[in-house]
Amino acid sequence: MKIVQYPHPTLRYKSKPINRIDRELKTLVREMFDLMYAASGIGLAANQVDLPIQLFVINLSGAADEGEELVFVNPVLSSPKGSHEAEEGCLSIVGVNAQVARPETIHISAYDLSGQEINQTVNGLLAKAIQHEADHLEGILFIDRISESSKRQIDGELEEFEIDFDNQRSTGEIPDDAAIFKRLADIESKYC
Ligand code: ZN
Repeated sequence: MKIVQYPHPTLRYKSKPINRIDRELKTLVREMFDLMYAASGIGLAANQVDLPIQLFVINLSGAADEGEELVFVNPVLSSPKGSHEAEEGCLSIVGVNAQVARPETIHISAYDLSGQEINQTVNGLLAKAIQHEADHLEGILFIDRISESSKRQIDGELEEFEIDFDNQRSTGEIPDDAAIFKRLADIESKYC
């Protein structure tokens, strides 16, 4: 498992709801947390590790032995209130940061890995992280939510990611779209 980088097609894929949680999925979630900590992140969505399923993990402390490990399965966000702008980055666009305005408060309904329902109204950093990760599951990146002037400032950096991606494609390190979507369909048929 590894974190895919922009503009990998799985990052634009709309994830499907999960209807089966097995031991293998729990192992995948463990690996996601470990990758997230290694990359110094506080959140990671399944499609960032090339899995097309509605699941993301968060630990606001960003450290394995601190904070609380949160897993959200099949999240549904509602009741957005207020607005707050802050700098965001993403483990799939490493090194790129920009100001993003999002609702300050949000309600999330989801399940945890044991199938328990989560019903929570959240604000602050947790609300931001949840919205950023829920966007991923819809194929939306934070760079889709920034101003035109911020976009112009990071365009050069994004272009470098696109060049890297094309290079990895040409060496076969990243498979072609058909192979990627075939694999995603196989994983979907297992978990969705
Ligand atoms: Zn992200």
